Amino acid sequence: MRSVIKKAALGALRLSGGFAASARSSRRRNSLLILCYHGISLRDEHAWEPSLYLSAASFRHRLQALRATRIEVLPLEEGLSRLHTGTLPPRAAVITFDDGFYDFYKLALPLLREFALPATLYLSTHYCGYRLPIFNLVIPYLLWKSGLATVDWEEAGLPLTPVGTYLERLRATQTLSQFAASRQLDTRGQDDLARRFAGYLGIDYDDLIQARLFQLVTPEEAALTYRAGVDIQLHTHRHRTPRDHALFIREIRDNRDRIRDFTGHDAFHFCYPSGDYAAEFLPWLRELGVRSATTCETGLASARSEPLLLPRVLDGEQVTPVEFEAWLCGLLV
Ligand SMILES: [Zn+2]
Repeated sequence: MRSVIKKAALGALRLSGGFAASARSSRRRNSLLILCYHGISLRDEHAWEPSLYLSAASFRHRLQALRATRIEVLPLEEGLSRLHTGTLPPRAAVITFDDGFYDFYKLALPLLREFALPATLYLSTHYCGYRLPIFNLVIPYLLWKSGLATVDWEEAGLPLTPVGTYLERLRATQTLSQFAASRQLDTRGQDDLARRFAGYLGIDYDDLIQARLFQLVTPEEAALTYRAGVDIQLHTHRHRTPRDHALFIREIRDNRDRIRDFTGHDAFHFCYPSGDYAAEFLPWLRELGVRSATTCETGLASARSEPLLLPRVLDGEQVTPVEFEAWLCGLLV
């Protein structure tokens, strides 16, 4: 109901010229909208997790909306430097994708090229060495796909467990993750567990592997992505942000080394995995020569924003076209 009211209110505001007024405001002119994406569905991922995924058709509509509202999409580095020198064009935005999924390479990249738009890919590199789905994504997807209200899989710590709702599936995934950690399973061990779980649920795991759902780009695909003009930046090697100084530094160094191996270039911009940040990270990032870091906090970046805590706006299938247009005009953010 709230979304219906919101949609109607936004529609009225748009008709009365509120969108256009906001788009011309000094607030919008002096700020940078950093859009955040995760995945573009290879199949039905947006139906499973509409806050993380968009269908390719919806992503195309987003790019059309950027064009129709005359948003100037800038490369990240240029956007940030013009933000700080006060030389941004009237309605500036940056497009960022987190993680580096194969679906970015397969679906988003061709669309970005078609619309001639720059983008930054924050690449987490550990899974690039494996053609395997990310465990913490494939498990809740399998549960959703099964359509089951409960599972009873005692061998991995899931005796008669409810999995009918989003939260129940999240909890069951955490239980399986803890089981994998207690057995010290490595990436392949975790994947064997996911495969057995798919078998238990009656889902064809090889089909998911072949379709490359929840897999990251390979080193070769990362290189091709970079050569196609995508800016590849830091997202930690193992998608985690340890509170320990030495471990944190290692995450970024390992990530930067892999990105250099893949692309031949050093990365100096960072995105906190899962939006997880803490005050102690800022001096550590400066020590590593990191020049900017983006969070998952909602907002427009301004010249007053801390460069290592830049807000973004998270897009997904659940965002309506009118809401997206409102963001572009500087509303709701
Ligand atoms: Zn991430």
